[in-house]
Amino acid sequence: MPRLLLRHADAIHVCDDARRVIRDGYILVEDGRIAAVGSEPAPPVAADEEISLAGSLVTPGLVNIHHHLYQTLTRAVPLANRASILDWLYAMYPAWAEIDADAYYWAALANSCELLASGCTTNADFAYLMPEHDGEMAAEELRGVREAGMRFVLVRGGMPTVEADLESRLRPVMGAQLDRLLDREEELFPKLERTLRRYHDTSPGSMLQVAIGPTSVTYVRPRFMRRFSDLAREHACGLHVHFDPRPDEHETMRALGGKPIDFLRESGWLWERTWFAHSTLLDGEEMRAIGDAGASIAHCPHCIIRLGKKAARLGHWRAYGINVGIGVDGPASSDTSNMLNELRLAMMLHRVGGYEDSEPAGQWLTPQDVLWMATRGGARALGRGDIGQLTPGKAADIAAFPLRRLSLAGAVLDPLAALLMAGADPYASLTVVNGRVRVRDGHMVDVDEMRAFDGCNSAARRLLEAARKRTGMDFSKHV
Ligand SMILES: [Zn+2]
Repeated sequence: MPRLLLRHADAIHVCDDARRVIRDGYILVEDGRIAAVGSEPAPPVAADEEISLAGSLVTPGLVNIHHHLYQTLTRAVPLANRASILDWLYAMYPAWAEIDADAYYWAALANSCELLASGCTTNADFAYLMPEHDGEMAAEELRGVREAGMRFVLVRGGMPTVEADLESRLRPVMGAQLDRLLDREEELFPKLERTLRRYHDTSPGSMLQVAIGPTSVTYVRPRFMRRFSDLAREHACGLHVHFDPRPDEHETMRALGGKPIDFLRESGWLWERTWFAHSTLLDGEEMRAIGDAGASIAHCPHCIIRLGKKAARLGHWRAYGINVGIGVDGPASSDTSNMLNELRLAMMLHRVGGYEDSEPAGQWLTPQDVLWMATRGGARALGRGDIGQLTPGKAADIAAFPLRRLSLAGAVLDPLAALLMAGADPYASLTVVNGRVRVRDGHMVDVDEMRAFDGCNSAARRLLEAARKRTGMDFSKHV
């Protein structure tokens, strides 16, 4: 296996338990693992390739823990550009119902390249929209991901119902096509088991693992939620779900004589292998329960702004001991998929809102806190001890970011603070996954980016046109 030597990095954030920062550092990579890391001079070894990182900041490859690759096909859709969550879903579902395996491939390829170019090396993709032709869609999604070279967690999801009152709103528009989005419980669990048996590789350095979960908590079907948590324990895999919880979820549970957080506990979901997406509306009791369980949250700041959610209370989460990772969320609910920019926003967004019940300045995140979330926090949320840090024996997933940029001029004291607080360049100068260079100077090394771009656009046009014909909805109209 090739030996790669990275030299003379201005700073290396190791993200080990001691949170070391190495100046003028080197990293030696062998057989896809970190072999050595330290300050220059590097050991005199014969490397197959030696790359100078002078003028760069180096971090572990960034870990994205909440995403929906298929949404790359419906970005910046005018019909939904002012819509908040339920109206946004109303505009999106008719288009998503047209997605086929070919479209999934192009979305996975194009968006994985975009993530890699921003320094992301592991992506957890919540794929809950593939009830029909399930195996074929997953196979095509994985083909796109593998072609790009991303380390991957396929969060095989399921959607038994649509959210809140969307069934009554969408049925007249979509008719039977709405059923193409929905999973039937008796068919879903055998599919999940097949996916787990086929793809879930738990060996150290694994490039592909599987997690499971429904898109939303289904309070009216406790057995359905219990089956997920039982299956996750049986296969030693993660559990994932969107959970804010919204006011209508509290309302549903009030009618059933309980609370959303108690329902999760009784369904076996308050567990260290569970990670929730968003959780922007948690109260103190909910935060305590999630922190005590050792569960995690995916913080997705762009989506909060795009869909007009409340700012997440990160300082409070951390005070309750909740592990936090960063997610870019689906490219239709954030319109972006740039992990570096997500870190920049994550550091700032929770400060919005002034004093009162919000975040006291003493709890505001530092650049080091945010990097930790995007590396070790993400790795822990995914149950992985082999990624997220640059120590010997760990997977060689590495990101380098350029520091010699005008936007960073004058920011001389702390390269990480410069990158996250002053930086405007969204791309990594080098991204290494499993010891292999995938990105140089912000571009894919061995994937034709424009082929991916054109393929994705053709698929997007095809499905939006099919949805327009079927429903009469004009997706290009600004509402
Ligand atoms: Zn999501």
